[in-house]
Amino acid sequence: MSAIAKVFVISGPSGAGKGTIMELVCARLGRLVKSVAAATRTPRPGEQDGREYHFLSREAFQRSVAAGEFLESVQYNGEHYGTLRSEVEDKLAAGDDVVLEIELEGARAVRAAMPGAVALFIAPPTMAVLGERLRGRGTECDDEIACRLEIAATELAAAHEFDYVIVNDDAERAAAEVAAIIEDRRRGS
Ligand code: 5GP
Repeated sequence: MSAIAKVFVISGPSGAGKGTIMELVCARLGRLVKSVAAATRTPRPGEQDGREYHFLSREAFQRSVAAGEFLESVQYNGEHYGTLRSEVEDKLAAGDDVVLEIELEGARAVRAAMPGAVALFIAPPTMAVLGERLRGRGTECDDEIACRLEIAATELAAAHEFDYVIVNDDAERAAAEVAAIIEDRRRGS
């Protein structure tokens, strides 16, 4: 592992499988931890405050924005999401590599602020598969899924901006590919 901890930005459309893949990767590799983002959306069943997200009211989120606590923050589908500086800085200071699972605008902002960050894009095999996955997980209503698919088309068009594009045709295979990339970058290649 290199002496300086690294930031890995993982982006890609909602439903592409970023969370599943990174859970597998973090379990496989040591010293790689997920930054817990702040969000104003309602928690899904089973989600816990401080684990999936720091769930904030809009007012609390705006206070954190005003206080300069975010490395980046965006509006996505009517809700606010943001990466807290403290989440990233504390983990890097502890010597862990940090994973940011964020959408396209946030990924662009982090790369501008931290040019050393390594950016990976997780793509679904096709838009049809993405639609099936979003419907299959059953956590969003039809309107919400339609909005997410619209955003996904814009995100897919920007895949070439990333250092790596990984197609999630199979979560285990994609996780192995991501883990290999991270190990490579840790060796400094
Ligand atoms: P979801 O509501 O499905 O949890 O997240 C919606 C989208 O917001 C996903 O693409 C997710 O990766 C992204 N996201 C989650 N946290 C952040 C964040 O802190 N910053 C940005 N820019 N995007 C985020």
